[in-house]
Amino acid sequence: MECSGCNRCTQINCSIDTKCQQLDRSMMDQYGAISFPIYQTATFAHPGLGESTGYDYSRVQNPTRKQLESIVGYLENGRDAIAFASGMSAIAALMELFRIGDHFIIDSDLYGGSVRLFNEISKKNGLTYTSANLSTDDVRPLIQENTRMIYLETPTNPMMNVTDIRALSEITKEKGILLVVDNTFLSPYFQNPLDLGADIVVHSGTKFLGGHHDTLGGFLVVKDDDLDERLRFIYKTTGAVLSPFDSFLILRGIRTLAVRMERAQDNALKLAHFLKGNKHVTKVIYPGLEEHPGYEIMKEQARGFGAMITFEVESEEFARSILRNVQLIYFAESLGGTETLITYPITQTHSDMPKDILEKNGINERILRLSVGIEGIADLICEFNRVFAIAESEA
Ligand SMILES: *Cc1c(COP(=O)(O)O)cnc(C)c1O
Repeated sequence: MECSGCNRCTQINCSIDTKCQQLDRSMMDQYGAISFPIYQTATFAHPGLGESTGYDYSRVQNPTRKQLESIVGYLENGRDAIAFASGMSAIAALMELFRIGDHFIIDSDLYGGSVRLFNEISKKNGLTYTSANLSTDDVRPLIQENTRMIYLETPTNPMMNVTDIRALSEITKEKGILLVVDNTFLSPYFQNPLDLGADIVVHSGTKFLGGHHDTLGGFLVVKDDDLDERLRFIYKTTGAVLSPFDSFLILRGIRTLAVRMERAQDNALKLAHFLKGNKHVTKVIYPGLEEHPGYEIMKEQARGFGAMITFEVESEEFARSILRNVQLIYFAESLGGTETLITYPITQTHSDMPKDILEKNGINERILRLSVGIEGIADLICEFNRVFAIAESEA
């Protein structure tokens, strides 16, 4: 077998665990630093008139950021990854591909910030969209003459609906529409949408890729040259680029992506079973549970089920009591770090979502979302037993 020529090592077809350790060695410095340096510079000297080191100005490119983009592209099997200052700035740049009069289709269950962008910015810029449950609805009748993109997450945030990416990509390919998948929830460790027919992968690097709640970042990953060129142009022109230091932090986070994802997923499955057995919990939505409607599709298209759990408790008071009393678990927005976070979608991540959509998706005052971390599972269960007991006594 031939080496795939990734400039990383001499191994062929290495596992994703190993890939997380493989930096682009053609960029190694003269000292052989194993931890890739932070090139904290805005600009670069030209060796001579009309000559360049390949770096001119850090808005356009910076070595630390390039090393990061290179590994994220490698992990997603993309041609290129572009690193933005946040997930939202990546999605905002993506929307610059479109012009007045264009139409797109989104999944009705999405990260609240994305919906806010589509409602408050994209609409103002003359775009229209249709929202549908892409895990169940037929999209064909929703496609218009001017439809340019279908945008989704799978599993979705927070209701964990699973969409068959490959099946949808057959439709988008036939119609010449872009298929964009926000892969934040699973990270490239568990799912590679480009391999399943997606055209662009979106990441909030703030989450599992960074992994420590210590930086923001975002990515667009593509496999097509023309699309890459257009997005790179938008990127350097609009300028929401990731700083060298934040690039370093995400590079460092990726080194442990494999062990963090495995451990968090392990905890999540155990916690999902534990929650299912509690009489105050009325619903547990985790795609790793066999009764989840998306279980079989996920087994086909992903290498794991991730570490996000959504669950519903018996009353709003019960939910609020849990949020008031957690100690080991943090009551905080965001996800994908080493510590377990609990979120209240109705007042936090999804507070700007239209009421009718929230209701239709089943996001109510009793719904809580967990980003399961890498703590000891016995301690997480102990924490839940404690807060459930308090909530019970308050009821
Ligand atoms: C957090 C998040 C985003 C936005 O990313 P930021 O880095 O917070 O800007 C987009 N999509 C999903 C699924 C997210 O969880």
